[in-house]
Amino acid sequence: TKFTDLGLSEPILKALAADGYETPTPIQAQAIPSLLAGRDLMGIAQTGTGKTAAFALPIIEKLIANPRMAPRRGCRVLVLSPTRELASQIADSFRSYAKNLKLSIAVVFGGVAAGPQVRKLSNGVDILVATPGRLLDHIDGKMLRLDQVEFFVLDEADQMLDLGFIHSIRRILPMLPHRRQTMFFSATMPKTIKDLADAMLTDPAMVQV
Ligand code: AMP
Repeated sequence: TKFTDLGLSEPILKALAADGYETPTPIQAQAIPSLLAGRDLMGIAQTGTGKTAAFALPIIEKLIANPRMAPRRGCRVLVLSPTRELASQIADSFRSYAKNLKLSIAVVFGGVAAGPQVRKLSNGVDILVATPGRLLDHIDGKMLRLDQVEFFVLDEADQMLDLGFIHSIRRILPMLPHRRQTMFFSATMPKTIKDLADAMLTDPAMVQV
């Protein structure tokens, strides 16, 4: 498989070429067609497999296929990540893949001042990458609402549980619209993780690498 066979638009293909990506990794080749077709996804994959691009590329493609203004104090895409480092990396990946496009991307995590994050969120952003605690702080402070989310990604679900974020995730889930596309990633799939995935996903495509 080549990136040009996957149904991605020219601005995305150009960005991938500029980043030196030549061929899709196995998770990308398997996940991208299902996600472009609008299906939910359960991915069992570790970091280093190329899973970020596996969800980011089809999300960007679908955003530009259906252009819309970012909702005020909201976002079209929400990616939840367990750590600030991972959240920053994911946001950087989105920025790189979308560098030929006009999409707004923000990242919010704890341990830093909330003010600059609030200012970025006020007009709304296309893509928001967040850790669960700080996300809820912004929601509780009425600086952010999730009722316009079209694409939801839960990354590193097993790490989320290990770090004690299950309660936060259970608070966030009911704030999301029912009509959305959901992507769930975990390196391992014990029963608690499987139960969480089943509660979030509708007829998901399964990818294991
Ligand atoms: P990830 O598993 O998403 O953390 O990605 C691991 C690393 O592989 C990142 O540095 C990506 O930029 C890089 N990468 C992802 N997909 C590809 C690809 N198809 N070709 C070359 N590098 C890639």
